[in-house]
Amino acid sequence: MDKKTSSWNAVAARGELADDLVAAFSAVSPFIEKHTALVCPDCENVCCIDKHGKYDNNDMIFMRALVAVTEQRPHEGGDDDPCRYLDGSGCSRARWERPFRCTHFFCTPLLKSLENDNAKLYRGFVVYLQYLTSVRQRMLEA
Ligand code: SF4
Ligand code: SF4
Repeated sequence: MDKKTSSWNAVAARGELADDLVAAFSAVSPFIEKHTALVCPDCENVCCIDKHGKYDNNDMIFMRALVAVTEQRPHEGGDDDPCRYLDGSGCSRARWERPFRCTHFFCTPLLKSLENDNAKLYRGFVVYLQYLTSVRQRMLEA
């Protein structure tokens, strides 16, 4: 296989994995949202500060594979201000559009809330989250 063909195959593989990743984000999101809705309104140290809403290099690989969001909304404040995507009802971005850390970070109260849900639902969620993480890793390596 010549170099150009191999490079196109890599791009196509990344695109397919990126689509799988969007589906995996959609699968884990309802369970996370159910518990952030319970826990976050009483939080005194909200994690949604602006620096956490910024894409890192690995997020950008995923976004470019989707030929999707690559522009960040302008923000004139500092890193520790409320995230530019936070509005009155929470995060205004779809789950897959957020930096990965926004889906992969669980503070102690949120983790407790997730774990205290129905055991079967929780186990299913963990399996999907592991799947999501593994697809992302494969995409980054493609
Ligand atoms: S995830 Fe945890 S730290 Fe972040 S806003 Fe919710 S309760 Fe607060
Ligand atoms: S979850 Fe949304 S509002 Fe919170 S840091 Fe991430 S992008 Fe910003």
